[in-house]
Amino acid sequence: MPNIPTELARLKKEQLYRRRRVIDSATGIHASIDGQQMLSFCSNDYLGLAQHPDIIKAMQQGAQRWGAGSGASHLVSGHSSAHHALEEELADFLGRERVLLFSTGYMANLGVIAALCGRGDGVFEDRLNHASLLDGALLSQARLQRYPHNDTAALDNKLSQSTAPNQLIVTDGVFSMDGDIAPLPDLAATANKHNAWLMMDDAHGLGVLGKQGRGTLNHFNLGNADCPILMGTLGKAFGTFGAFIAGNEDLIEYLIQKARTYIYTTALPPAVAEATRASLKRVQHDEWRRERLHSLIRQFRQGAEQLGLDLMDTNTPIQPLLIGDSAQAMAMSQALQNRGILISAIRPPTVPDGTARLRISFSAEHTELHVRQLLDALETLA
Ligand SMILES: *Cc1c(COP(=O)(O)O)cnc(C)c1O
Repeated sequence: MPNIPTELARLKKEQLYRRRRVIDSATGIHASIDGQQMLSFCSNDYLGLAQHPDIIKAMQQGAQRWGAGSGASHLVSGHSSAHHALEEELADFLGRERVLLFSTGYMANLGVIAALCGRGDGVFEDRLNHASLLDGALLSQARLQRYPHNDTAALDNKLSQSTAPNQLIVTDGVFSMDGDIAPLPDLAATANKHNAWLMMDDAHGLGVLGKQGRGTLNHFNLGNADCPILMGTLGKAFGTFGAFIAGNEDLIEYLIQKARTYIYTTALPPAVAEATRASLKRVQHDEWRRERLHSLIRQFRQGAEQLGLDLMDTNTPIQPLLIGDSAQAMAMSQALQNRGILISAIRPPTVPDGTARLRISFSAEHTELHVRQLLDALETLA
């Protein structure tokens, strides 16, 4: 057992203690905290769909038709025609044979990696991969090897030295705390060379990158064969909740038999599936949301460069400002909050030691004026 009081005291002392802010308004670019109106730059609702009236209506009608919950797991009696239709529509959207819905992205990643790999296999992961991907590898009991961020040569080296009969390479498409894009063409070529599988978690690319928001593979003009295992989440650009794995017929049938985080959990409420079907239409057809997002990102980067701020090399809606020290990142987040701007400080262990940062994220609901307000606040802090 850990010594709980000692550990809590250490976290406080090292500025690593985590506290939840209670938000008492709908999520979106405006948040009300303790009665104070804040302009928020920390949501993953990149396309601004979480509050879309069509999507809310689809969820209300879904609840009318299906009730509040699914009542069981997919394999017992929880798999409704709403879930099934969403799977088929997502598969069409992505040009994949099949899609399998999971209740969360965390569970999808645990489930798929542990179903595909076991003792004696090799899982190769980017150092900055999402925690759920690392946890999936640990759960699988395969040998986990982490390669330096986006370093395909180092990965190639590790694969050459590995004698594991099955090798799985796993990467984020867009890295959640850095906002940069994985070198998918190189990763696909490396996987091909070693006859390894490639899995990509596109939680932050889907809806944002590629034609009609089809994600990071489409952004690079890659095909399904380049990345046979695709994971996507529905709680970010889609604005709802849940996640999925997309792949070929055999992969999906295999996961239905073997993925324990699929089998032993309650299916999403069907109303959430109905809302996501409405959301998918907006993701595909509202090109203006992606255009707006990209113009806000350009405006922010130009302004921040003029202020001499330490930007990371990314053109995605995730625009972190590297601070380094956790206490300083917390102080800046608090100072911004005092000026009515909500931005989270991201600290270790979410990011490597000494790389605490302010994670700024943009939404298509933001306007030029909002970006101006953000830049003005950063200027007074700088
Ligand atoms: C958010 C996220 C997840 C987890 O998805 P949930 O549906 O929120 O559980 C997995 N991977 C990445 C890269 C994420 O950003």
